[in-house]
Amino acid sequence: MPRRPMMAANWKMNKTVTEAQNYTAALLPRAADAEGVDVAVFVPFTCLHEVGRMAENSAVIAGAQNFYYEDSGAFTGEISAPMLKDVLARAVLVGHSERREIFGETDTLVAHKTKRALDAGLLPVVCVGETKEERDAGGMWEKVSTQVGRVLEEIGEVGGEGIVFAYEPIWAIGTGDTATPDDAQDAIGRIRELLREERGGEFADGARVLYGGSVKPANVAEIMGQNDVDGALVGGASLEVDSFVQLVEAAEPPSSDGE
Ligand code: PEP
Repeated sequence: MPRRPMMAANWKMNKTVTEAQNYTAALLPRAADAEGVDVAVFVPFTCLHEVGRMAENSAVIAGAQNFYYEDSGAFTGEISAPMLKDVLARAVLVGHSERREIFGETDTLVAHKTKRALDAGLLPVVCVGETKEERDAGGMWEKVSTQVGRVLEEIGEVGGEGIVFAYEPIWAIGTGDTATPDDAQDAIGRIRELLREERGGEFADGARVLYGGSVKPANVAEIMGQNDVDGALVGGASLEVDSFVQLVEAAEPPSSDGE
């Protein structure tokens, strides 16, 4: 069974509730027309209830951009997995590089959050990737394999279909500087090999690995054309619904009747 591609929007710290309603209302019918691709939108907490409600029973997966792994208690400013479920989130970003770099999230925290998301029935999209300095020093794989490995150590026995990784080289995020399709394939192919070594073929063949970093309508086709790339996590080019829909359409697998 080939993996189902995923196109995921990360709105970051953008959009009011009204803007989110307008976007979601425009996206829903167009996502319903997209065959064979999962469409996810990772929205600010303040919009999540509304987007979750509008997207319930639709082709669009509503997701959060972050959460904390405890369920409740004295964690001022945090949001838990049951709270996300309560507002109809079905997925959550974990360890986005902005969380790691600006807010100091460690590999261990990211691993705990991933485990908690899985246990709560949320689809975790776990972000990994290296800085420019790390890449230039030949340290891309050491960084990425450590990040992925720490998550695998923590998550226990789960099926590969229940988890998504996103390879997002930090130097390509929001910079307009996209990794070449070969660089994306190289890193994502190595992630899949690591999944195979650590968890076996069924897990590695089921887990989706996305690319993220300045994906836009002009470059999505060649990124999606790579063997191991199962979709994209998109910031800037997801903020306008027309541009995001173009990305969703580019992720649709060719139909079996050749149309
Ligand atoms: C992201 O936010 O995960 C991202 C990849 O952003 P952009 O597409 O703007 O580079």
